[in-house]
Amino acid sequence: MRVLITGGAGFIGSHLSDAYLERGDEVYVIDDLSTGSIENIQHLKNNPRFHYTIDSVHNQPIAAELVDRCDVIFHLAAAVGVKLIVESPVRTIETNVRGTEVMLNLANKKKKKMLIASTSEVYGLSTEVPFREDGHLVMGATTKGRWSYACSKAIDEFLALAYWREKKLPTIVVRLFNTVGPRQTGQYGMVIPTFVKQALAGRPITVYGDGTQSRCFGYVGDVVGALIRLMEHPQAVGQVFNIGSNEEVTIRELAEQVKALTNSNSEIIFVPYDEAYEEGFEDMPRRVPDITKVQALVGFRPQMSLDGILKSVIEYYSGSEQIRGQRLEVGK
Ligand code: UDP
Repeated sequence: MRVLITGGAGFIGSHLSDAYLERGDEVYVIDDLSTGSIENIQHLKNNPRFHYTIDSVHNQPIAAELVDRCDVIFHLAAAVGVKLIVESPVRTIETNVRGTEVMLNLANKKKKKMLIASTSEVYGLSTEVPFREDGHLVMGATTKGRWSYACSKAIDEFLALAYWREKKLPTIVVRLFNTVGPRQTGQYGMVIPTFVKQALAGRPITVYGDGTQSRCFGYVGDVVGALIRLMEHPQAVGQVFNIGSNEEVTIRELAEQVKALTNSNSEIIFVPYDEAYEEGFEDMPRRVPDITKVQALVGFRPQMSLDGILKSVIEYYSGSEQIRGQRLEVGK
């Protein structure tokens, strides 16, 4: 099979590339390296079944050529990371909305099956925890930059589902909950790589707010396994799936766990949201997925515990360069 992965030099995309190559498939990646990194795919460059194009999906002639060559498409290219979103809302909205528009339009011309990565951010301020795919999405005010990410991704979802209903383009939407593991960078604010790097360097571990907010961290190897199985399953088409772990942890507990596992002397400090992001920043107090749907269809079960995830990220950040290309066990 020939697989096109937009955003394939990103954290999740590069692991997905590894997994398909391991199966013997042909992988085409397009990535503009805005948040992805060439280092993530360095180890694949000599593989004759791996092809990469450094360009934006907005470059339609290039994207069209790649769509033509491939059998299925994973559209992972997006502006991600709350910090980036708050700092660059124009880029976020344009990248996420236009990029998906272009890719759906091209996929539709050739009727190529496409999976779109959305996000748990779309649940916004909903308190219906655990979040179900058919639950309400509760957005904050448009004056708060954070919600531009959720809204741009919700539009992507609407569009993908509309292409299926109206034009019979087979599309699948996945809402990825906090996904973590080796190769994720802390540059755009993601909490686990940030805490691990701080702890290893003996710098203060920065808990935003009072640290009572909670998250569930899914291992990238497990997530990639679910993406592949959903792509293969005929009944996944036209549907939305939560993917993630349901092991919940508060950010304060997370900081303590990282500190203990790294034997770090770092101090845990509390930084007000206004200082960490922008004035009036609204966080999601709890974010837990209901994963019954993906479990029922493809048997998805998160395999890796938070402890195991943290150890793999610590190993990655304290290890040598070769570790960058390390292939992960993909979830069954
Ligand atoms: N966070 C934190 N310190 C950091 C980075 C993030 O306390 O240095 C918090 C953040 O405010 C949020 C949680 O950790 O409550 C997860 O943040 P992340 O950006 O990883 O993902 P989000 O769930 O916000 O999309």
